[in-house]
Amino acid sequence: MVPSHTRIGIIGAGTSGAYLAVLLIQQGFQVDLFEKAPHPRTDGCGILIVQAGMQALHQGNPKITQKIIDSGDAVKVFEFRNLRGGVINSEPVTYEENELPGMLVHRKAILEAILDELPPECLHFNAELASIAQTDRSATAHFKDGTKWEGHLLIGADGILSKVRQSIVPDVELFYLGDIVWRGIVEDNRFCPEGNFFVYVRGRGIYANFFHIGGGRTHWGFFIEKERTDSEIGKLQPNNTTIPPQELAKLPDDARKLIESTPLENIVCRFSYDIDPLPKIYDGRVILIGDAAHAKSSTRARGMTSGWEDGLYLTKHLAESANIPEALEKFQAERLPIVHEYQRTSREMSLKIGRR
Ligand SMILES: Cc1cc2nc3c(=O)[nH]c(=O)nc-3n(C[C@H](O)[C@H](O)[C@H](O)COP(=O)(O)OP(=O)(O)OC[C@H]3O[C@@H](n4cnc5c(N)ncnc54)[C@H](O)[C@@H]3O)c2cc1C
Repeated sequence: MVPSHTRIGIIGAGTSGAYLAVLLIQQGFQVDLFEKAPHPRTDGCGILIVQAGMQALHQGNPKITQKIIDSGDAVKVFEFRNLRGGVINSEPVTYEENELPGMLVHRKAILEAILDELPPECLHFNAELASIAQTDRSATAHFKDGTKWEGHLLIGADGILSKVRQSIVPDVELFYLGDIVWRGIVEDNRFCPEGNFFVYVRGRGIYANFFHIGGGRTHWGFFIEKERTDSEIGKLQPNNTTIPPQELAKLPDDARKLIESTPLENIVCRFSYDIDPLPKIYDGRVILIGDAAHAKSSTRARGMTSGWEDGLYLTKHLAESANIPEALEKFQAERLPIVHEYQRTSREMSLKIGRR
């Protein structure tokens, strides 16, 4: 086993980095988790955690899965509707006794459940990574405020715009998936009964989903197909973040009204991006996990799950390998084919199904 006095730094306290920190600390490693934001980034909207994701969390720390189960809705039905509101297909979801459910839950509840399992002294906020240096025995992270951290292994869990990735595969460009997406949370428990996930299947240039996330709140996502203008290339958000009324009007009245009733401060808007599969995810003593390594379209809802699976596998290889280079090599060999498949199939679904 890689010795437990090994010092490991993680950049990014999103769901991937925070869960990995929990797992590594449980294994006895010395862990520091760095986040550029001043406090946990509990913004964001509703999340579908597929069953594999709940299993990945449960395998590492059952307290986390219990908190998530307590705060959200177990998935009961996937219902596919056309843009007139007619039901195309309704698929009930049943579970065996003791089987973990898929969950519909607020991102905030997920991140808090994970962060609760971390000793506060390992968490460092206001710590924005500026650059990385490494030798064959150590890695050093330099932060914007002039401080630095030095240890044996540095992990980039810093999301789709990863700075850490720059030192492994430079100049990765974001791939535009062709949609602007708005997501919101509204106080409502009538539109979507508990545990129901409604999909208004893609047609006439739009797509939408709705699900209840517990606590009398409903999440919605609304996607429109739109090319970026020249001045929007390279940006995360469109110049105009208002939902075009003529696009919203393509939804049935009840769905449109629910979106219109959402307070503006509960709505986020961004272009939808992923990245191409990377040829490698580590270099020397620096490695990537989560969206930093394999950001993908949201169509298969594998984003968070794949980050947690990374955490499980990386921890396993560190526990079982003789040294860090061996663990990283084994991790990469095992994970790359799997995450490339997630990326490929998610993008394919996003680009092919129902587009104009
Ligand atoms: C529209 C949409 C819907 C989605 N729906 C689902 C869903 O239903 N189910 C699902 O499983 N997934 C979904 N996802 C994907 C999911 O949100 C992501 O895969 C997941 O949040 C990635 O987690 P992460 O920790 O890897 O990255 P992030 O959540 O991006 O976290 C990265 C962290 O690193 C920090 N950071 C960045 N740069 C630095 C730096 N230089 N120094 C220090 N800190 C830094 C950031 O502040 C952030 O806290 C969706 C994504 C989108 C866009």
